[in-house]
Amino acid sequence: MNYYSLNKISASATFEEATVKGQAPDKGLYFPESIPALSKDFITNIQSYSKEEIGFTVMKPFVGGSIPDDVLQHIVNETINFDFPLVKVSDTIYSLELFHGPTLAFKDVGARFMSRCLGYFNRNKNQKTTVLVATSGDTGGAVANGFLGVEGVDVIILYPSKKVSPVQELQLTTLGKNITAIEITGSFDDCQSIVKQAFADAELNNKYSLTSANSINVARWLPQQLYYFYAYQQWQQEKPPIISVPSGNFGNICAGILANISGLPVKHFIAACNANDVVPEFLKTGNYQPKQSIATISNAMDVGNPSNFIRILELFHQKTDDLKSQLSSVSIDDVTTEETIKDIFKKYNYVLDPHGAVAYYALKEYMEWDNNEFDNSTLPKPAGIFLETAHPVKFPEIVEAVTAQKIEAPESVEYLFDRKKLSIEMQPSFAAFKEWMMSKNV
Ligand SMILES: *Cc1c(COP(=O)(O)O)cnc(C)c1O
Repeated sequence: MNYYSLNKISASATFEEATVKGQAPDKGLYFPESIPALSKDFITNIQSYSKEEIGFTVMKPFVGGSIPDDVLQHIVNETINFDFPLVKVSDTIYSLELFHGPTLAFKDVGARFMSRCLGYFNRNKNQKTTVLVATSGDTGGAVANGFLGVEGVDVIILYPSKKVSPVQELQLTTLGKNITAIEITGSFDDCQSIVKQAFADAELNNKYSLTSANSINVARWLPQQLYYFYAYQQWQQEKPPIISVPSGNFGNICAGILANISGLPVKHFIAACNANDVVPEFLKTGNYQPKQSIATISNAMDVGNPSNFIRILELFHQKTDDLKSQLSSVSIDDVTTEETIKDIFKKYNYVLDPHGAVAYYALKEYMEWDNNEFDNSTLPKPAGIFLETAHPVKFPEIVEAVTAQKIEAPESVEYLFDRKKLSIEMQPSFAAFKEWMMSKNV
């Protein structure tokens, strides 16, 4: 598979080139030249395949030519060596729990896949690769964990000071080794802007072999498709599900739509946003207007200019009407999010995290509308899935206050509380970051 740049100036790239570069030289996002069509047989019989077989079958067309089959199978097996349970919350609503990985966030899959691909591509090189990543919370921990100890790769993480939760901060500042955390006294957008400028800076690119681990990297973006196949594998209903995805940079939902276009049955997608409502506004008004990000209690979605939305437009050949028939998007405020956590705990004894709560509420609202719209009692009621993208323990102040329950940390993160935070504090200025990078020993 080759990948073209969405800016259409740079030459197309192999999977290896696209992964190593992150972004095309013309600053466009890489996009697959064709969308694979999965066989009907594979979809119909998906229950008879193992997680590992599904992972290999889905990823192979995207990676083919860059990684031999046996290595790819090995990378897939390591990437997905935990559970992705579909848990029933109510009669018509299911939670796809994506927080059973090492950092309790769905980003583990993308980060684990990408780090292992980069490790493979670097196997015979002398120059180190430096992964630069901006995080609004969960990316940092997943990337740090995914890359920890990978030979030939250094990781530099920029995160907004005081805007990530205590568990999130520990996950990205306590690993040491090849992982460095930079604490920016500003917003996530500041972090992302510094990273973007770094990629465009000639001197930095001369000194370092830089790559990104944000969801613009194809090796992080594409494996997220697997969640949707694992959800469908566990889906017992007659009709395809409506799927609601808590969205910030829109990488996860874009991967879901890609899976759908490849043949995975999905009735409709909902991009559930918090107060950062660029996409809901676009679908309403036709006007795409990036904004400053607003801080919310679902902070991993505090994104004012979602980088992957352009890929969704490309999936629909820039036809907004086609897009609207398959994708809705809504903005849910913090008060509603908290009330949802409280209600669902009371009604169903299920503890949502703030991101999952945004997605749950958006799904419920859509299903009520859908029921009224197509009121025909002889048909089975539509059922839906929301993606629960983080463990509630990552947001203890909110979840504990709202549910009046102590949220126990799984053993996999208990050890963090005894570790010492190590970060480098920095102004939100590219000049300051560049000076630090230029004075650093490689
Ligand atoms: C990153 C993240 C999101 C948003 O995912 P995108 O792919 O950026 O849309 C949602 N929830 C959690 C917990 C996250 O970490």
